[in-house]
Amino acid sequence: MVYTGVLTKMQTEFLEPIQYYLVFKHDFIHVNQLLNKTIDIKLVGHQCLSCGLDRPIYRQGFCKTCFFDKPLAGDWIMRPELSTAHLDKEDRDLDYEKKVQLQPHIVYLANSSNVKVGVTRKSQVPTRWIDQGAHEAVEIVEVPNRYLAGITEVALKDHVADKTNWRTMLKNDIKDEDLLAWRQKLKPYIPEEAQPYFIENNSETHIHFPVEQYPLKPKSLNLSKTPNYSGKLVGIKGQYFIFEDNTVFNVRANEGSVVELTV
Ligand SMILES: [Zn+2]
Repeated sequence: MVYTGVLTKMQTEFLEPIQYYLVFKHDFIHVNQLLNKTIDIKLVGHQCLSCGLDRPIYRQGFCKTCFFDKPLAGDWIMRPELSTAHLDKEDRDLDYEKKVQLQPHIVYLANSSNVKVGVTRKSQVPTRWIDQGAHEAVEIVEVPNRYLAGITEVALKDHVADKTNWRTMLKNDIKDEDLLAWRQKLKPYIPEEAQPYFIENNSETHIHFPVEQYPLKPKSLNLSKTPNYSGKLVGIKGQYFIFEDNTVFNVRANEGSVVELTV
């Protein structure tokens, strides 16, 4: 079978284990069913996720022009504390920013390679945790807008990591942490404006990924250097394909690439 399409991050279903889907214009691929099969990935072009043109991808699946122009690539996406819609202040498109920023957001602790703090829209729980390859996570606060979540994350970053080590995550070189104890420990550092939104009672969420063999020394596949790769798929974790020869492929980092997948 040959499937051709533009890569976007895999859709997921929170089952045990996680179910992964690649959504192409004409195909819907259940990636779990490709485990233990040889997959050939070939880069055939690019397609910006915003304008649709065949231009080099700059960041987040967008060409350079769209990345700096479009409301869905504003700085407040990566840095939630820069959100201003709650002040009626526009960054690039106030209607869009209100729609996205003025909705319930969660500040969470997730453990993928270490305990880290992060922010997501409430509607993205547990998707965000799955995408990061976290095997456990818990909410800390639920706030009514992105700004409050952002300033909480910034305050907590002084006391807990905000980055994942992707190699450690993929090697599964992990330990279980008591995230509920972490939540209590971090509580005093939550900014005053967000204190009323502290979540006391939620339990930890545990996530199981479909991995049959973890890579000992993960090597990341870069399609611009290796436009044609072939390997046996032995796992999926976070947004990564894991192959038998230690090659790993970050689907999300390749958004906007047009590929031909042969199974
Ligand atoms: Zn574009």
